Amino acid sequence: MTDYAKLAELLLPEIDKTPEYYENLYPARNLAEGARVTRIAPSPTGYLHLGTLFMSLVNRMVADSTGGIFFTRIEDTDKKREIEGGITDIIEGLHRFGIKIDEGFISGEEQIGNYGPYQQSHRAEIYQCYAKKLISEGLAYPCFCTSEELEAVRTIQEGEKARTGYYGKWAKHRDISFEEAKSLIDSGKEFVVRLKSPGSEENKVVFEDGIKGKIEMPENDEDFVLLKSDGIPTYHFAHVVDDHLMHTTHVMRGDEWISSAPKHLQLFKLLGFKPPKFAHVSPILKLDNGNKRKISKRKDPEAAVKYFAEEGYDSLSVLEYLMTIAASDFEDWRRANATAPINAYKLNLKKMSVSGALFDSDKLLDVSKNVVSRMNSAEVTEKLINWAKEFDNEFYNLLARDTEYTQNIFAIDRDVPKPRKDIAKWSDAKNYCSYFFDELYTPCYDLPENISAENAANVLEEYIKVYKPETDNNEWFSGVKSICEAVGFANDTKLYKANPDAYKGNPGDASTIIRVAVTGRRNTPELCSIMRVLGYDKCIERMTAAMNYYRSI
Ligand code: GLU
Repeated sequence: MTDYAKLAELLLPEIDKTPEYYENLYPARNLAEGARVTRIAPSPTGYLHLGTLFMSLVNRMVADSTGGIFFTRIEDTDKKREIEGGITDIIEGLHRFGIKIDEGFISGEEQIGNYGPYQQSHRAEIYQCYAKKLISEGLAYPCFCTSEELEAVRTIQEGEKARTGYYGKWAKHRDISFEEAKSLIDSGKEFVVRLKSPGSEENKVVFEDGIKGKIEMPENDEDFVLLKSDGIPTYHFAHVVDDHLMHTTHVMRGDEWISSAPKHLQLFKLLGFKPPKFAHVSPILKLDNGNKRKISKRKDPEAAVKYFAEEGYDSLSVLEYLMTIAASDFEDWRRANATAPINAYKLNLKKMSVSGALFDSDKLLDVSKNVVSRMNSAEVTEKLINWAKEFDNEFYNLLARDTEYTQNIFAIDRDVPKPRKDIAKWSDAKNYCSYFFDELYTPCYDLPENISAENAANVLEEYIKVYKPETDNNEWFSGVKSICEAVGFANDTKLYKANPDAYKGNPGDASTIIRVAVTGRRNTPELCSIMRVLGYDKCIERMTAAMNYYRSI
């Protein structure tokens, strides 16, 4: 046995499996040529972050574009930052947005797939096995430095204007002997396992990033930590081991990891693994006092995905919006494929922003209005009721009281070729439809200046006599015209235009009077349909109340 092998045994005596064991346990995936395997690897440290949703969407789309697999892996190696229920929050959040998960965690508790466990805190033995291999090959070693010692080295480096870090001549335990390590361990000293980097800052590492193109950086020469003193890996080590054993083909992650890529590529090589393709995704930015900055969990409410749910944005709107900022050709695709589901779009990494896209809430509203306008009344009703159930109980009770009535409301000007775009988020719907519910309706009898209260009362009095609910829009308007003469209004718009002074008003004015009486508004979707949905009795009741009001002033 070599000294390195003895050292490996000394440091990790409990590890009895070999890398071959895991290589056999996790064989190559049986997928079609070119199928991409992607993943999201969130830490369960809080609510689902907009960046995580964005990254999940992009990873899902890249897998979908090739008939591949998208899986979740929980990076919970930092137990201090973890919060209770963190996994559930993230996975449920992804479900809420319709991000399909093929493998890994599919709920807070349940994981599926043959490459698990999909939670790093349950994979300690696996990482330790690969660490043991590196130690036994002289490619990793124990470091016993305390944080005070590391701090002291740093101070000297700063004094000498040397690059800070644990590398080369500064790496105190790089050449530690088996005997020395043994005596330190026997005396109860704690250690971490560090890579013995064969790299040099003079050399370059070059790789092709799927989004950013060719990237060239100095090779890693730092003896960075692989296993912490509790035997738990760092991100660098866990990422390399996991993405190898889980056969990830494309690692798409935040571009804050670019600077660590030389470390990762070096580890892949030293472990004899084929590296995946990397694509570093730029963050979502926000304008803050004229400066662009990364969206921040601390400062921005919209960093938490639940903000969008509470505001009532439909999950499809948020996804659609995220796609507009993800890929420069998405909006063109949408124009050409107005009604296609979002996953019919084929994401090309080359169309992704290299520098980071700006979050624009006006644009989100705009995108959202279009998304909601494409939904039919049944979808709107279902989604709105679900939203209200969670976020607006008063509204929920009204909407759910008679769902057919609710659906009739949202069918108006909707199940037609050119639907209106009044609703961007579900929280807009309450105001949009308030006049359909007495509980929400406050009459407002304000008229345009050219219409007097007396004329309004006269129109209503006559119209109440003739109103028939079961008409189409043309017949309905004929009904309005039919009372015009009796109240001194022109019964035709052209007639009125030719000689306005001869009349007290025109059919449009009469419609306005009726609209205000029935809805309290001057602007609404098609009034004929509104009145039909409200029903004869309600319309007569409201018109009578308005007439009485105009007579009383
Ligand atoms: N937990 C890491 C992060 O959230 C994962 C990065 C990766 O995808 O590899 O940044």
